[in-house]
Amino acid sequence: MKGTISRISGPVIIARGMKGSKMYDVVRVGGEALRGEIIRLEGEDAVIQVYEDTTGLTLGESVEDTERPLSVELGPGLLASIYDGVQRPLPELLRLSGDFIARGISAPGLNRERKWAFVPLVKSGDTVAPGDILGTVQEFHFEHRILVPPFVAGTVTEIRSGEFTVEETVCTLDNAIHLLMMQVWPVRIPRPHQKKLDPVLPLITGQRVFDCIFPVTKGGTAMIPGGFGTGKTVSEQTLAKWSDTQVVVYIGCGERGNEMTDVLEEFPLLVDPRTRLPLIQRTILIANTSNMPVAAREASIYTGITIAEYFRDMGYDVAVMADSTSRWGEALREVSGRLEEMPGEEGYPAYLSARLSAFYERAGRVVCLGSGERNGSVTVVGAVSPQGGDFSEPITQNTLRVVGTFWALDTNLAYRRHFPSVNWTRSYSLYLDNIAEWYTKNVAPDWREMRERCIYLLQKEVELQEIVQLVGPDALPESENVILEVTRMIREDFLQQSAYSDTDSFCPIEKQYLMLKVIMTYHASVIEAMNRGITLKQVRALPLRAGAERWSRSGQPGWS
Ligand code: ADP
Ligand code: MG
Repeated sequence: MKGTISRISGPVIIARGMKGSKMYDVVRVGGEALRGEIIRLEGEDAVIQVYEDTTGLTLGESVEDTERPLSVELGPGLLASIYDGVQRPLPELLRLSGDFIARGISAPGLNRERKWAFVPLVKSGDTVAPGDILGTVQEFHFEHRILVPPFVAGTVTEIRSGEFTVEETVCTLDNAIHLLMMQVWPVRIPRPHQKKLDPVLPLITGQRVFDCIFPVTKGGTAMIPGGFGTGKTVSEQTLAKWSDTQVVVYIGCGERGNEMTDVLEEFPLLVDPRTRLPLIQRTILIANTSNMPVAAREASIYTGITIAEYFRDMGYDVAVMADSTSRWGEALREVSGRLEEMPGEEGYPAYLSARLSAFYERAGRVVCLGSGERNGSVTVVGAVSPQGGDFSEPITQNTLRVVGTFWALDTNLAYRRHFPSVNWTRSYSLYLDNIAEWYTKNVAPDWREMRERCIYLLQKEVELQEIVQLVGPDALPESENVILEVTRMIREDFLQQSAYSDTDSFCPIEKQYLMLKVIMTYHASVIEAMNRGITLKQVRALPLRAGAERWSRSGQPGWS
């Protein structure tokens, strides 16, 4: 199908004569064959969002429908890749066009020349169904499982073994279907699974305030809203580094390019504390920075989550970090504005909330398709950057409704260099009951109790501080001065955690619990001592107190 451009408005164009085109078909626009996607059809007119800069495009240029939806290529070679929002490999684009990406350049998501050693797990005569494992490929140290794609089934008539490219047939079925190591999947459609499971396993991030106080689960969803400079990007990057998943998809969405450069430079040097393997080998980076076209930014989160689902389907735990979903929402708003749709709140389209919830809905811990009862998960952590840190704006509010964990970053805490600047009175986790059993078994039976006491003391501190501000600390009874002392320890030694410390940027869950326990035991002991007539001043003179503090700084218990 071929039409012609009849209108151009920034990233949105209208093409005439597109009879037969379908919604979400990918099109090639103009002489340079810029990539775009049909987002509305009106008679024979197609409204198209273009993923590349449309400057210089002219009316009357041709538009060609590829008759395929926007899709990603899934297969060996994804790990350690760096893509733009529509899965073009950035290093390859740079090689082809120099420092600035020229328009109309395309390169496939998966390398076509590279050969991978395929080890079959099925034999001729076996019947296979969607999600069954055909064989494996070793990608770095990762076992990349080659699956029968959704909706495909049959009896194996030929299965090969050896070195193949992603385009070569590795398996043939009796219904003449040829299976490759590569699958292609439309990004806007969730990949199917058998069923969703309860989120009973925590995502362990090595960050005390996250793991111990406001946990998220594997397959859960979390948001990190915060004003400028509160630590959203550092938090997303820290989570990408230390979360206990086998795969991480990091989506840099509409943020500054230099932050993405940091990731690109830093990740190849980092080692996973659990596996001792380079972190980059489990990471896929999707970069659509603020200087890149806005429509591709809209697509980038779908590209990212589809790749995550693909690894989930193999039976792995995957984490998706999206920084920032506000920039994604702004892309949606810009395109909607160009379409002259009826604006909703603050100019965002009325379907903003539906789009956001559909995106987060793709998270989850699932029973994968295929035999062998594999479980996999996709956890989604989205940063939100509300203007001026005002959480009442639409992206924050609509995300709040759909996520399970809310990590509210606080400008005042960031200003006082309390990092991560997670506000402990505004933040929450809805997963505490779900993961209680895991924590009881794997951390300690009294973890929940410790956590609740910690939260209680922090809330009490707010009240006490008001009194102190009015009448000074001397007006408080000793038992309440102890609380202020303990909450200071909680804040400074436990909740604060520098992302840049060699010893503390990752804190094992056992140590997290012990640190909390030390502080709580200190509190209980001081109260007991005071009941026996010992004063707070006498307690303060004891050398023991510096223990927990030194522990978090040095990695060694201070009293040993
Ligand atoms: P945002 O993305 O919210 O605008 P950033 O993540 O870029 O903010 O953080 C701004 C600065 O705050 C960082 O450059 C760093 O100095 C500091 N910071 C944030 N989080 C931490 C942390 N966990 N540990 C140490 N410093 C942090
Ligand atoms: Mg940022």
